[in-house]
Amino acid sequence: MTNPDIVIIGSGIGGATIASGLAGSGASILMLERGEKLPATPHTRDTRAIFVDGHYRPKEMWREAGGTAFNPGNYYYVGGNSKFFGAVLIRYRKEDFSEMEHYGGVSPAWPFSYDEFEPWYSRAEQLFRVRGALGEDPTEPFHSIPYAFGPVPDEPPIARARAELKGLGLHPASLPLGVDIDAWLKDGKTGWDAFPNTGTGKVDAQTGPLAAALADRNIRLETGAHVEYLEASSDARTIAAVHYRQNGTLKKATPKLVVLSAGAVNSAAILLRSPSPNGKGLANRSDQVGRNFMNHNSSAMLAIDPRRRNTSVYQKTLMLNDYYLSDGKGGKPLGNVQLLGKIDGHILRANVKLAPKFALDFMAGHAVDWYLMCEDLPDPESRIMVDGKDIVMQWRRSNMQSLDGLTKVMRENFRACGYPIVLSRPFDKRTPSHQCGTVKMGDDPATSPLDPFCRSFDHRNLFVVDAGFLPNSAAVNPALSIAAQALRVADHIRKTELVA
Ligand SMILES: Cc1cc2nc3c(=O)[nH]c(=O)nc-3n(C[C@H](O)[C@H](O)[C@H](O)COP(=O)(O)OP(=O)(O)OC[C@H]3O[C@@H](n4cnc5c(N)ncnc54)[C@H](O)[C@@H]3O)c2cc1C
Repeated sequence: MTNPDIVIIGSGIGGATIASGLAGSGASILMLERGEKLPATPHTRDTRAIFVDGHYRPKEMWREAGGTAFNPGNYYYVGGNSKFFGAVLIRYRKEDFSEMEHYGGVSPAWPFSYDEFEPWYSRAEQLFRVRGALGEDPTEPFHSIPYAFGPVPDEPPIARARAELKGLGLHPASLPLGVDIDAWLKDGKTGWDAFPNTGTGKVDAQTGPLAAALADRNIRLETGAHVEYLEASSDARTIAAVHYRQNGTLKKATPKLVVLSAGAVNSAAILLRSPSPNGKGLANRSDQVGRNFMNHNSSAMLAIDPRRRNTSVYQKTLMLNDYYLSDGKGGKPLGNVQLLGKIDGHILRANVKLAPKFALDFMAGHAVDWYLMCEDLPDPESRIMVDGKDIVMQWRRSNMQSLDGLTKVMRENFRACGYPIVLSRPFDKRTPSHQCGTVKMGDDPATSPLDPFCRSFDHRNLFVVDAGFLPNSAAVNPALSIAAQALRVADHIRKTELVA
């Protein structure tokens, strides 16, 4: 299939979901995925192998603009980063679709409203079989369809944490999760956040939308197919070919339509590497490809009570949005708080090298482990660049005042709940989990590479459908918003491109 109707590059959240949205349309679709299927081995539930030995981390190195090389936690498997995700499938809040003032500047609006987008959020929740509870969270936006399944249950120490936070007058709420907890625990008594999914416990891009898409005989997945660059037609108005390397051989596909879904960093890199008359790559008349790179400002926070063991296995069932729209005193937004998966001594060892293992085991065994997440604002100088085959990341963090504020208020809250020790540590560039913004959508071709349906303003047969399209990072996990937009773009393609 070298001249299918559509080539989709990448089988992560964006690529797999748009494939599922196009299934049954009659279009012949070739999916090109750089990675292979994640094999089930004894490492999949071994925290030492995963977190200390980096068994699943790619060997690739990215560089900072100054030259320092680092190994990013960016995963290349069928299903992409979602194979390792925490399966939090949460909607952006309604306010995230409008301009919002933050301590560090203004978060831009989306080119359409939450109300317009809402039906696709509902469809994405159904596709990923999200479990949750409505009515607990004060920032919850309107849902036209309730969750199909009740929330993953709190374990007893987490039920206690929920009650403690409620006792302070706060509104802890159940995390919306794509997790079938019984199926997950059958393969091992661990959490799922950052663990590879080789069964059906997590509904990730592969076990959810890709499985649905591949039921259509017109959709075919090629693995080990590493796309190197796109080729424009001679008048540059369309993409004429996709060039990829498979088993050491350079190959070429010539579809009618190209959907680029290689993830925010790699999609930008593919476009920037693609030959163009001005040397700025393709889809880049706006000079914004690679720019506006965002990745949440986030910290791990351990609330430790040496007198009480945290016996949770998975832990990750709560969030708190009391500081999402304001700092609680009439000030600007701070961000979202949610549980991490339960950490152990090995996971701590991966981050704190010097402490003895028994001390780390004790600490982890008595901690409730939280994740503080704050909005990173777009900045054209925060950018992904390419240098030959290398990826160069110049991440200009913004809005750190929000993370400082959230850290301070949550430390006070956890102390008030009776945890005498509260430790926190920010995540850094080696964790680009929530990368986004590098190929943003908007109304104006002068300032955005993509239109509101993720179509390139420059090449009408190119769509970019992954975290790159997000115009802002908000302060919630991105996957459900990527999936909802992928379904919306699929509907648009069916209407505008596939009509007989
Ligand atoms: C540990 C971890 C935990 C996370 N937890 C959550 C969470 O709980 N909730 C949430 O919403 N988000 C979470 N995320 C983020 C979430 O996984 C991403 O936002 C999401 O997967 C992004 O979707 P995407 O389509 O942009 O990219 P991806 O899903 O990463 O897909 C990109 C795909 O393109 C492929 N690819 C890349 N380059 C090429 C190439 N040159 N040729 C061919 N194929 C290529 C990749 O192999 C991959 O399959 C987490 C991420 C990590 C790493």
